[in-house]
Amino acid sequence: MKIASINSRAVIVTEKGLVDINRASGGRFSARTDELIPVLDSVMAWYETESPAPTDPRSQEELEADLSQLDAPLTRPRQIFAIGLNYKSHADEVSMAVPASPMIFTKFASAITGPSATINLPQGSVDWEVEMVAVIGRGGRDIGRDSALEHICAYCVGQDISERDHQLANTPPQFSMAKSHKGFAPIGPWLTTADEVGNPQDLAISCDIDGVLVQESRTSMMLFDLPAQIAYLSSICELYPGDIIFTGTPEGVGMSRNPQRFLQPGETLTSRIESLGTLKNRFT
Ligand code: ZN
Repeated sequence: MKIASINSRAVIVTEKGLVDINRASGGRFSARTDELIPVLDSVMAWYETESPAPTDPRSQEELEADLSQLDAPLTRPRQIFAIGLNYKSHADEVSMAVPASPMIFTKFASAITGPSATINLPQGSVDWEVEMVAVIGRGGRDIGRDSALEHICAYCVGQDISERDHQLANTPPQFSMAKSHKGFAPIGPWLTTADEVGNPQDLAISCDIDGVLVQESRTSMMLFDLPAQIAYLSSICELYPGDIIFTGTPEGVGMSRNPQRFLQPGETLTSRIESLGTLKNRFT
């Protein structure tokens, strides 16, 4: 199932049209995607049993052709975790040692924006990092590796936009503030439920700037896979439904190019993950 947010209302995206979950369920379920996450199993069971007719003729294809109709698919995660240096090729390119345990920082929730949002460039050197984003469906503490994937209900595409001057201004560097400017966490285009994704650890991931490919890898190249991330995070923090994890970026960021290359006004960053969709963000 694909769940998007359009005009702040949760819809199921199908080939034949959109199903407004709140309306089609007669008010049984909330109109807000954030509030559906804890009851997602019930939403999926309801959809399967009732097969409600579309409430809006727009198809998945039409949304893909014009992403501007879509809001961020979640706006109020209680916690956002992000994993630094989680692809060896990326740690190598920025000349940093491969971490011995997951290197965690946060992006503050106020940085979340939609899949086609225009992002205002602050002062400094603004870089791109395409990342798979996992959504926690069932929370908990001390979650074991073996059952970790059962705690993820959905996935989407994310960009961990980063302002490098601020990030690297001091020693040691800081991550969370430099990665939380307005619009620095575009996610979307919708949530694809885990049952539809198959193996999340083997998806093509890439991004381009104005059609020029800059990152291209597979999620199989992560140093700490999703079970390792969930086990580590939940050994310290309680995880809650709706929390999201930015799972790290592969090689090809701008700061490690020679010469370095950062995002410029007027450029469009297109980020793709197999089975999950596309983000298209323009910079001003
Ligand atoms: Zn990142």
